[in-house]
Amino acid sequence: MIPPIARRFVAGESPAEALDHVRKANRRNVKVIVNLLGEHYDDRGPVRDDAAAYRSLVTDIADSDLEACISVKPSQLGLDLGEDVFREELETIVGTAADRGVFVWIDMEDHTTTDATLDAYEEFARKYGGERSASDRDAGGTGGVGVCVQANLKRTRDDIERLADVPGKVRFVKGAYDEPTDIAYTDSDRVNTEYEALLEFAFEHFDGGIAVGSHDPAMIERAIDLHEEYGTDFEFQMLMGVREDAQYELAREYDMWQYAPYGNRWKSYFYRRVMERKENLWFALRAIAGR
Ligand code: FAD
Repeated sequence: MIPPIARRFVAGESPAEALDHVRKANRRNVKVIVNLLGEHYDDRGPVRDDAAAYRSLVTDIADSDLEACISVKPSQLGLDLGEDVFREELETIVGTAADRGVFVWIDMEDHTTTDATLDAYEEFARKYGGERSASDRDAGGTGGVGVCVQANLKRTRDDIERLADVPGKVRFVKGAYDEPTDIAYTDSDRVNTEYEALLEFAFEHFDGGIAVGSHDPAMIERAIDLHEEYGTDFEFQMLMGVREDAQYELAREYDMWQYAPYGNRWKSYFYRRVMERKENLWFALRAIAGR
């Protein structure tokens, strides 16, 4: 069972608990991106299991009136075993999701996975995403595929030029992985500058489909300014348990999606959330102390 302190960041262990969380968030106008926790499998068994779990989740979402989509990790779908394994498993999920009108995000992992992830995204977005139109991208709409790009990687400026014409969505994040300095910016000010430049390019050149995946008030403000300047469609995305008051507030005016993980592999995800910020550590310690 997941202890109450971890429940702030993790929606539960079962799909039923995850969907219950979606229902509660939807009541506050927040839509939910559901992720089954799991990564870096070196065996086909868990890859097949997680792909099957995602197909089943897609069906549950499609059969409900919930505003939800899913997000998968390449190494959860077998990328460590080979690009062919990853594509094969991903296509079973994207195909089911396209039939049932559920959107599929592909998370971005460390730089060794970027090419394989973007190549798979481009192929499946063109095959299953249809035309890039506002109605195609709507919540709970007609399916489609999205990918995440990281502002800390120097290559991302070139990548988004390539992605501008792909009929899918792109989630912009600062980047969660420690990367070598020859290929990545490591200074946080530089990453912020880069993030803003990427957003500016996207708002100017994309025909919508922009997801601003950040909790940073400065980036959020910048995205709103760029939306006002260029009129391009976009959405905000934040993690479950992080700045939830801001999520509810933004949801009054903007398209707001919350990324909510679930599953029995919650420990390392929870520890990452706790360790990344002092406030979260205090929150966890207070909960353990019962205050
Ligand atoms: P930071 O640069 O960490 O912080 C900037 C400011 O934001 C802080 O000063 C504070 O004001 C505010 N803030 C940030 N965190 C908190 C907090 N916990 N509590 C209160 N205020 C806070 N990374 C990947 O590499 N690949 C992915 O696929 C990926 N997917 C993601 C999906 C979503 C929906 C989100 C939100 C993030 C994802 N990330 C992913 C993580 C991302 O790369 C960053 O590591 C993470 O979001 C932290 O950067 P930030 O922009 O939120 O703010």
